[in-house]
Amino acid sequence: MSNNPFKNAVEQLEGVAKLIKLDKIYLEVLLCPERMVEVNFPVKMDNGRMKIFQGFRMQYNSVRGPYKGGIRFHPEVSEDEVKALSFWMAMKCAVVNIPLGGGKGGVVVDPKKLSKNELKRLSQGYVKAIFDVIGPDKDIPAPDVYTNAQVMDWMVLEYKKLKIKNQNYRSKSKNKINDKDWLPTFTGKPVGKGGSKGREKATALGGYFVLNESLKKNKINKKITVAVQGVGNVGCNIANILSNDKRFVVVAVSDSRSGVFRKEGINLEDVMKQKKEVGTVSGLAGTKKITNSELLELDVDILVPAAIENQITKDNARKIKANIILELANGPTTPEADKILFRKKKIVIPDILANAGGVTVSYFEWLQNIDNKYWSEEKVNKKLEVIMKKAFKDVWNSSKKHKVDLRMGADVLAVERIVKEI
Ligand code: GLU
Repeated sequence: MSNNPFKNAVEQLEGVAKLIKLDKIYLEVLLCPERMVEVNFPVKMDNGRMKIFQGFRMQYNSVRGPYKGGIRFHPEVSEDEVKALSFWMAMKCAVVNIPLGGGKGGVVVDPKKLSKNELKRLSQGYVKAIFDVIGPDKDIPAPDVYTNAQVMDWMVLEYKKLKIKNQNYRSKSKNKINDKDWLPTFTGKPVGKGGSKGREKATALGGYFVLNESLKKNKINKKITVAVQGVGNVGCNIANILSNDKRFVVVAVSDSRSGVFRKEGINLEDVMKQKKEVGTVSGLAGTKKITNSELLELDVDILVPAAIENQITKDNARKIKANIILELANGPTTPEADKILFRKKKIVIPDILANAGGVTVSYFEWLQNIDNKYWSEEKVNKKLEVIMKKAFKDVWNSSKKHKVDLRMGADVLAVERIVKEI
């Protein structure tokens, strides 16, 4: 098994190239990022000392539009991880057919160990370091693992500050700067500060739309049991959405430390209260404590990995009992595990389709910032639904045409759309 997500991405690409007999030069183009930026920047800590942090911004592919993708704050961020994630962003934007390319950023840090002020200075320091390579028409970052709307607000204001400084340096037109020159540089901002209504729930809601489409194809008519790995923004929102739909019962959730199970269903409000107060979901009254690997192997209908990469591997794929796997995380299944799941006739709704709702509403946010016209949540969700349903149909047709699983169907569709623009 490879723990290197970029190796997994390469294997994926080579599989597509073989299947559609892709010209070698196109494969070569797709195998390397257009630009890799590594930065090292100082941050003043609360004790008055400076500490250097390492970060990345990968600009993988821009043939379909400006680079687009989140920024991750995590101790395990690495060049290869960010590279894989930026490649998947390019593929994701192509699957939902929005005019954006693929990028991704990350800082090697454990944000849980920082105070709020340190986190703010880290966010500002990172923007200072990548200022030159981002912008509304160049590269548009967004939230990812352990970053959120607050972090985006700090970042976009830092970007604005630097933009004004730059402008004053060049001309006498002091402070004359248009909102559309800085505000659309980041998406996933707070509502009321340039953010789009519906952005926070968008990844989960997009996943819900494609899940519904797949259920129509597969006809499950009883109460559907669900286990969700991860209670970050995405995991929490999908668990909430499914709990509010009478067809589903969420029987298990987990965080990075451990999980909880209750056959009759889990009350999400209690879970979040527990997480906030105790720091972990485990210990929640009336539930049974389970490990993350037990959660993945539960006898449920639907499994939703909504945390990080490489969770379903060749070591546990045979033990997965869920019939449908809705990949709301990026890269949760390794290629070896994929083959096992395929042989076991499991339906994997692949990440680049399942979690593309987030970047789709980021695209809507970018448009709203540029036009300076803000949409209702109803409008956002309706437009998201149209895009996700169409993407599901396109992926489904692609997989039928090539007689492959949905992941390969999505990969082929994305590669064909990207290659057309090279
Ligand atoms: N980080 C999210 C993703 O992996 C969202 C990216 C974006 O909105 O640009 O899809």
